[in-house]
Amino acid sequence: MGIMKELFKAGLDLLLPPSCPYCRKMLANTDSLLCGECFSRLEFIKPPYCACCGRAFLGGGENHLCGDCLKSSWAFDKARSLFAYGEVVAGLIHNLKYSGKTTGIATIGWLSRQSGVVNDLDDPDFILPVPLHIKRLRQRGFNQAHMLAKTVFPDGRKKIRSDFITRQADTPAQTALSGRERRKNLKNAFVIEKACELTGRNVLIFDDVFTTGSTVNECANALRTAGVKRVEVLTICRADMLLF
Ligand SMILES: [Zn+2]
Ligand SMILES: [Zn+2]
Repeated sequence: MGIMKELFKAGLDLLLPPSCPYCRKMLANTDSLLCGECFSRLEFIKPPYCACCGRAFLGGGENHLCGDCLKSSWAFDKARSLFAYGEVVAGLIHNLKYSGKTTGIATIGWLSRQSGVVNDLDDPDFILPVPLHIKRLRQRGFNQAHMLAKTVFPDGRKKIRSDFITRQADTPAQTALSGRERRKNLKNAFVIEKACELTGRNVLIFDDVFTTGSTVNECANALRTAGVKRVEVLTICRADMLLF
């Protein structure tokens, strides 16, 4: 950081002391982007977890396949999430998605660098945020998955591409639907553009939340059909492991 920038930041910190983006408490340590109490409530996903879908297992031991992955196969090769779904991380994502508050974005990026999960992924040729339907994108003004991908991969920004996948159907809010309904609802929802650029490449699908996995799976399906070689998935959190 240049000296002027440093001075500017110090001045800004005096005027607006940095606060926790979740509970608004003042941050004692300006190197951390979340207060200690909120940090302690996060559940970082760490091994052992399912070697395929990344669901965490309680207790120790090696990674192995979970019951679901033994029974059925996903269209992606591997999925990982940074956190189990809990109040703090859900709150930061919710503020971004529904109130347009970007204060938690830097915090999520900072937290992602303290997770070992990202190192468990291959280095992709492209990072593909799950797209919103154009109608939803216009309502919201931004795609939260794209913004979050930029903060999690600050050095990989050139790889982040939103021009390869489009979302055709304006699917109703997935949260209101059962697993089977979600899959039916998403059938053919994603269309791949410029497939020739993707053939034989390795990609990482990026989204905010992994709920049943049907959204990222449908994306992976479309990418496979377009000839993508390896498909991995990273989400900020896993909603099937509730912390509430
Ligand atoms: Zn806090
Ligand atoms: Zn699994």
